[in-house]
Amino acid sequence: MSLDTASPSESQTSLARRPPYFFREEYSALIVRGNFMTLAARPVHVDEGEWLAHQVVEQYRLLESMIAIIRVVDEKTGQSICNPEVCPTMSASGHTYTWLDNNKRPIKIPACQYIQLVQKWILGKISDPNLFPTDTSLPVIPPFQSSTAEWLGKSSGFPANFEGDIKSIYRQMMRCYAHLYHGHWLDPFWNLNAHKELNTCFIHFVNVGKLFNLIGDKEMEPMQPLIDLWLVKGLLPAPEQAAGADTTPTTATAPAPAA
Ligand SMILES: [Zn+2]
Repeated sequence: MSLDTASPSESQTSLARRPPYFFREEYSALIVRGNFMTLAARPVHVDEGEWLAHQVVEQYRLLESMIAIIRVVDEKTGQSICNPEVCPTMSASGHTYTWLDNNKRPIKIPACQYIQLVQKWILGKISDPNLFPTDTSLPVIPPFQSSTAEWLGKSSGFPANFEGDIKSIYRQMMRCYAHLYHGHWLDPFWNLNAHKELNTCFIHFVNVGKLFNLIGDKEMEPMQPLIDLWLVKGLLPAPEQAAGADTTPTTATAPAPAA
């Protein structure tokens, strides 16, 4: 396939008329062939809580490898690619995400700082043995006294707030992806020929998020045009399919970050 018709060197005038590169079919390719459903589907004998904990940690690892690409420091300026000058706010497609200050007031901070805070926050969550228990043989201590309450992951030792927390983690990871695309698709992902890796990590993230209902449509809105392209290609489950996964996975190649 030739890239001539929509090369990222085209003029600003034509940019104004066409959607951003990453929302075009010709740039939506992946580094992995095959079905992402098989990577996301929970093995029959694995508890849903354990599977989602595994998925969230894996998704974070992939996102982290993509974030590392925008953190590379330019030798000439001494600044990272995503820095407070080029990205003064955590923005994506008209959305500006705010952080809460010590008085719980929303504040706008540079994207690089926002992403750093998100990473610190997520790492704190996934390394918290109360939230992500590593030894499931330990007795479960519910946060409130109730013998009848049920929650996701209860049977394998996850606390009642587990589902809410992994959804919050997912929401923040989504914002990071939205910034990677809207702020940095051309530089550095296209320039380094790493845009397919970015697509591959992101489609896997979206697929798991949709399949296990970890993220809502509203939160995916800044990236919806790309998600729609993948839906049309059958690379993501149609909305009616995304109501739960209980199939036996077959082998699939896991997406790998750019070398
Ligand atoms: Zn940025």
